[in-house]
Amino acid sequence: MEVVVLLGAPGAGKGTVAERLRQTGRFRHLSTGDLLREAVRQGTPVGQEAEAYMKRGDLVPDEVMARLVEERLRAGADSVAYLLDGYPRTLEQAEALDRILQRCRGRLPHVLFFDAPREVLRQRLAGRRVCGTCGAVYHVRNLPPRREGRCDRCGGALEQRPDDREETVERRLEVYQRQTEGLIRRYEMCGLLRRINAAQSLEGMLSDVDRHLGAAGDAGQGAGSCLPRGL
Ligand code: AMP
Repeated sequence: MEVVVLLGAPGAGKGTVAERLRQTGRFRHLSTGDLLREAVRQGTPVGQEAEAYMKRGDLVPDEVMARLVEERLRAGADSVAYLLDGYPRTLEQAEALDRILQRCRGRLPHVLFFDAPREVLRQRLAGRRVCGTCGAVYHVRNLPPRREGRCDRCGGALEQRPDDREETVERRLEVYQRQTEGLIRRYEMCGLLRRINAAQSLEGMLSDVDRHLGAAGDAGQGAGSCLPRGL
């Protein structure tokens, strides 16, 4: 099994890029935010534990996340390639992921880092709308649906995520930056980090991603994990 980690602040466009890559049939998209929101909707034990953290824009505890991710990775066949979106978010989670991959005999050939200035992120999050039925993501200006307020895919009503409101956005961006700086350094030092300019158009991002993943086919540097030596 192969895992490509998608790193980037909320609003950087990871989810949208992941959806396009999923449509190529080459990857499965595993978004921890989506998994958690689904768990909350269904009222599962994980959902009940996670809900309060998510409402505040805080991170859900590491043990809960590790269990959730391992369970999902194990559910697929060995030949599956995953886009892991939203995990890891901290150094501790990155170490947990290395252990999970070791146990599942998975490889981590690339970490795609979607890099954008904060002002761009704020603007993207303020305009983001999500289909309440199927989860498809739109933007009022950059990626509008064909019919206003309605999902192109299933016709469901488009909504603003409660944590995309202004009060929570600042906190999420703050938490993200504080938690992930070390993570970016870590993956950079072990040669897995591929920087994507996330301030450009979706098409531009997709072509950057393609270039990196194309080069990855041979996965010369695909060590399977990032050993924290020297950090
Ligand atoms: P996202 O959709 O990725 O912005 O995630 C929404 C919320 O889910 C976050 O604000 C966190 O509360 C929670 N969450 C998602 N992924 C993680 C993670 N890897 N670790 C901890 N909490 C997470």
